[in-house]
Amino acid sequence: MAVTGFNLPPIETLSFMSAKNIAMKNCLSIDWEDWFHICEVDHLLPRREWNRYPSILEEATDKILALLKLRKIKATFFILGYCARRYPHLVARIALAGHEIAYHTDRHQLLYDHSAEDFQEDLEKGRTCLSEICGRQIKGFRAPQWSLNQKTPWAVDLLIKNGFSYDSSHAPMPIIGDPGFPEVAHRLKGDKEQGELWEFPPMVLNLAGLKVPAAGGWGLRTWPMALILRKVRSLNRQGSPATFFLHPVDFTNHSYDRALPLVKKAVLSYGLRTSVRSLELLMDHLEFTTIEDCLENLKS
Ligand SMILES: [Zn+2]
Repeated sequence: MAVTGFNLPPIETLSFMSAKNIAMKNCLSIDWEDWFHICEVDHLLPRREWNRYPSILEEATDKILALLKLRKIKATFFILGYCARRYPHLVARIALAGHEIAYHTDRHQLLYDHSAEDFQEDLEKGRTCLSEICGRQIKGFRAPQWSLNQKTPWAVDLLIKNGFSYDSSHAPMPIIGDPGFPEVAHRLKGDKEQGELWEFPPMVLNLAGLKVPAAGGWGLRTWPMALILRKVRSLNRQGSPATFFLHPVDFTNHSYDRALPLVKKAVLSYGLRTSVRSLELLMDHLEFTTIEDCLENLKS
């Protein structure tokens, strides 16, 4: 059954995904953005100042690509248009190494702070820029801070209209998403556009009734690996890959000397020392590939 708009079905209706292989490959993704691309702190890190801040992207990209090469893993990189224009050679390197290039908006704007017209313009600009650099069609999209949700009813139609195959923005947890969103990969249908879009939600843990992030950021750095692996296997038994998301800050271990709100500072910096170790442990126990590949596996 497909999901129309945001009238989401119960999990059991997603039975088209038979439990075929519990050793299935899971999605590894990187939100390729700089440390200062933090939502809702424009007054502290104004966009007009971005070009003046020191960037971590050269250093982090070297480290990410080296680790992925060592482990023989392909990943999906959700690229910010701003970063692609500033570092096209790095985007080309990522693509040349065989990784998937996907889109993460032009300037890290929350979708629900903008109009459908703004989003259409942003999608056209981003796809063109990234396609020209990597020479491939861009199939995937992720909204900054998971901001594609009930407040953006036009977004699914626009992604379909612009030829995207999948989205990875529905966080099944409170505050930044909706705990009612399905936790497994599933189809979405637009209200107006023909065609479908697949959704790859970030994996969450259900701890004492509260859904919390577990597949990237502070969640991955915090929760016991045994809990995380158990959840991955549970999703895999339902026929769905788990979707993990890392950021360049996870690979650099810098301290960011900024007066940010406590929550933003924790999300940016808490436990950064353990990020790469956590990822390596995951790589020891799980198979990973791009979201594009996982989508092909689900369709086959
Ligand atoms: Zn982002």
